[in-house]
Amino acid sequence: MKQTESQPAQQFLEQIKIVLCQTSHPGNIGAAARAMKTMGLQHLVLVNPKEYPSEEALARSSGAMDVLENAEVVSSLEQAVADCRMVIGTSSRNRALPWPLVEPREIKTILDEEPTAIPMAIVFGRESTGLLNEELQLCHYHVNIPANPDYMSLNLAAAVQVICYECRLLALKQQSSLHSAEGLDEVVAEVSGERKATVKQTEGLYQHFEGVMTETGFFDPNEPKLLPARLHRLFAKAQLTEAEVNIMRGFLASMTKHIKYQSKTKNDKSEEE
Ligand code: SAH
Repeated sequence: MKQTESQPAQQFLEQIKIVLCQTSHPGNIGAAARAMKTMGLQHLVLVNPKEYPSEEALARSSGAMDVLENAEVVSSLEQAVADCRMVIGTSSRNRALPWPLVEPREIKTILDEEPTAIPMAIVFGRESTGLLNEELQLCHYHVNIPANPDYMSLNLAAAVQVICYECRLLALKQQSSLHSAEGLDEVVAEVSGERKATVKQTEGLYQHFEGVMTETGFFDPNEPKLLPARLHRLFAKAQLTEAEVNIMRGFLASMTKHIKYQSKTKNDKSEEE
């Protein structure tokens, strides 16, 4: 008898997006789609692929054409992950600014501790240069497949396969429906406002911060240095909830109002003099 996917496993895997950034070789896109489908993942997002749609991608996808047909094509990583509450970036090497780093199997621990952190995206970089620093800074965690230290870099589709396999193991272990859509509703109802903020909400807060910091003279956009990266890392580590984002934005708005009020009274006074 043909086996079917259990419902909790399927519901969990539906919450995971695989995002490929600026893939150069369409064959890798097809092979990644195939790797996803074998592990029960469906949701593929392509950020600015070099060559797509493509015959080669279709050929390499084998029987996973449905994953390719339903793939979203977008123009930035920010757009790809806007609705996600957890973003994990894959990287084969250490970067200049250390970031919270996990091994593939630790994705389970993250989700056990943060059951509201879905939908989740797992992001893969270019064949030549991997992910850009700005892209890595949009991620809450970086994940590294602990490969041979003398030869760390897997083929893109092979890396997708390894990560999707870990997601599948995780899905198969879903005894309860905690991470399923129904389970999530219960958690959210219990902790109203305590749901993790989406990338769009957190980026909105970051932009707001940058605006106010520029206004006060604390930040010079012409000489940003590491400040934007460090702030992004702070937000990634804090994994703010929706309620916390709202508090911070409310505070920033009150600061802007206060600064405007102060400069208005100062102007009024100097006009009187
Ligand atoms: N030369 C590139 C490697 C790109 S490999 C670099 O220096 O970064 C293409 C993509 O496959 C990477 O961006 C990453 O998403 C994934 N990948 C390859 N090897 C990996 C590893 N050991 N751990 C995690 N991801 C890996």
